[in-house]
Amino acid sequence: CGIVGYVGGQSALDVVIAGLKRLEYRGYDSAGVAVLADGGLASAKKAGKLVNLEKALVEGPLPSGNTGIGHTRWATHGGPTDANAHPHADNAGRVAVVHNGIIENFAALRAELTGRGHDLLSETDTEVVAHLLAEAFSSCGELAESMRQVCGRLEGAFTLVAVHADEPDVVVGARRNSPLVVGVGDGESFLASDVAAFIAHTRSAIELGQDQVVELRRDGVTVTDFDGAPADVRAYHVDWDA
Ligand code: GLU
Repeated sequence: CGIVGYVGGQSALDVVIAGLKRLEYRGYDSAGVAVLADGGLASAKKAGKLVNLEKALVEGPLPSGNTGIGHTRWATHGGPTDANAHPHADNAGRVAVVHNGIIENFAALRAELTGRGHDLLSETDTEVVAHLLAEAFSSCGELAESMRQVCGRLEGAFTLVAVHADEPDVVVGARRNSPLVVGVGDGESFLASDVAAFIAHTRSAIELGQDQVVELRRDGVTVTDFDGAPADVRAYHVDWDA
């Protein structure tokens, strides 16, 4: 439902939670966040309102980091439970992904992954993406390239945003039939399902096109199609009042 991603000099957790609050008006049933810190990936997710997640973060704080992603979920596959909330991770806990939309061919992908020894822990259509990204990353070593390869295997409508602990200064996003907007800041970059999530930080935005992948770094963004060909991007100024 709502997606936020951040890389920059601020606390990623603070930026992501504030962004998710700006998207709360859309309605959701669970919320979660993941941050890259100290060479690893840390996450928290809870069924219910953002306040439940915030309470969980007070009881079990995450290490502070400058790269992070967050999600508010509107369940389509699997009930609104803590386990089904996003982000979803691979079994090694190195990659985390959040997703809006529906992966139509998730059952076939799930069977394939289970056959290769992956242990899927939720009932969502989303979790397969985390496992596929981890496999792709282990052979190509780059999250944006992993995302391009995985998107080529997915059917349906999706906005995906992911991080990998082995690429701690990168957030990657992709979209097909579901919106995703990039915010270009000064030494920081944002991703969101809606500009409302980052308008407090920057008004310079890039609308991601159909079947495109974006690699987000502090100092800029790179956009390609699913085959890796560079895409033309044009930043526009968001001039409505937040
Ligand atoms: N299909 C996914 C799920 O049920 C994502 C739902 C959403 O768009 O929030 O977990």
